[in-house]
Amino acid sequence: MDRSMIYTDFGIDSETLRFCENILNELKERFEKIDEMAEFNQLKVIRAFQESRVSEACMYGSTGYGYNDIARDTLEKVYANLFKGEDALVRPQITCGTHALALALMSNLRPGDELLSPVGKPYDTLEEVIGIRPSKGSLKEYGITYRQVDLRDDKYFDKEGIKKAINEKTKLVTIQRSKGYQTRPSFSVDSIGELIGYIKSIKPEVICMVDNCYGEFVEDKEPLEVGADMIVGSLIKNPGGGLAPIGGYIAGKSECIENAAYRLSSPGLGREVGASLSVMKDLYQGLFLAPTVVAGALKGAIFAANVYERLGFFVIPDSKEERHDIIQAVTLKSPERLIAFCEGIQAAAPVDSFVTPEPWAMPGYDSDVIMAAGAFIQGSSIELSADGPLREPYAVYFQGGLTFPHAKLGIMNSLQRMKDKGLIKL
Ligand SMILES: *Cc1c(COP(=O)(O)O)cnc(C)c1O
Repeated sequence: MDRSMIYTDFGIDSETLRFCENILNELKERFEKIDEMAEFNQLKVIRAFQESRVSEACMYGSTGYGYNDIARDTLEKVYANLFKGEDALVRPQITCGTHALALALMSNLRPGDELLSPVGKPYDTLEEVIGIRPSKGSLKEYGITYRQVDLRDDKYFDKEGIKKAINEKTKLVTIQRSKGYQTRPSFSVDSIGELIGYIKSIKPEVICMVDNCYGEFVEDKEPLEVGADMIVGSLIKNPGGGLAPIGGYIAGKSECIENAAYRLSSPGLGREVGASLSVMKDLYQGLFLAPTVVAGALKGAIFAANVYERLGFFVIPDSKEERHDIIQAVTLKSPERLIAFCEGIQAAAPVDSFVTPEPWAMPGYDSDVIMAAGAFIQGSSIELSADGPLREPYAVYFQGGLTFPHAKLGIMNSLQRMKDKGLIKL
């Protein structure tokens, strides 16, 4: 039986199939290294579960106030242990990544303090949190100022600029690990460590926070291990393993976490309240699966980079580069290609494969965005998804895939779609 014939059921022709299979043959060694990383991180997760004494009772949640919620409190121990923090806050009440970041910032900054981003513009949605774009409830409204030092032209940290920007008001430094919707490189954990070391040599008491979104389990260590005080992320990205239906986390120094807990619920109540309802089993099981899910997503990203680089498109990271997050940017140079790419990803989905994605205004983003996702969890970007703002250079940001075979199908579908519309030639 020729099993590859099943691709024709998806409309993928033999030329596209051959083109893709040839590329995959060259990637075998790289994929092996990714599997080795997944093995290491899987064992790290199991150790954290064991050392935190995760029990059957942890699969059930609480209701109402959520006092003495052993499931919630144990999961927070697991996260702290795994990410090497003194403590962690992991809650379904943290609605998304932006909320987790806003919470970490608002709870650890006070009027008169200054926030510094030494790695250029932060993620789009943080512009409103900070008040770079005027917004209700922003840090700016509370008298917290913001300073930014852009990366140098060679994309390295501008150490001179950073030194000049740090002043007596600088209280917290935010470092975004992943490029997000930008065409700069993502940072390795080691280079984040170097940056933090430099910043602390100038002002030791400054709080260094890392936006860890999309970075978890890509490397064998996380930013708290290289000097960060706080790491922040979303559970509908890497650490939720595709199963977490909601949630965010903050891990790091006890004092930072305590501040965040009092801000999330209320002064006086802090972490003692917050029922975990019925999501706990998925938060545990998702974290357990996350290392191998991230490995599948990474393989998909590398495959996409190799396919589109071979066709002459500018890809970040490039086809050979080491990976520091699961996002793959492909500069498609025209709105038609960006839309066709997203249509191809959507058509490969297990859920909502029959809908056509359209560019739309999104809360938090300053230009129309097209998003393709046929996900089990709405907006989950550890699941196969592609999105891009409709602006120059028409870069698509592709990420996720709960399994590599699904990511592979999505990429082949996007390629076939562009080919069928005459937008590329193999
Ligand atoms: C996704 C993301 C965010 C925001 O998370 P949401 O869950 O979309 O609110 C922030 N920073 C980075 C780097 C991200 O990738």
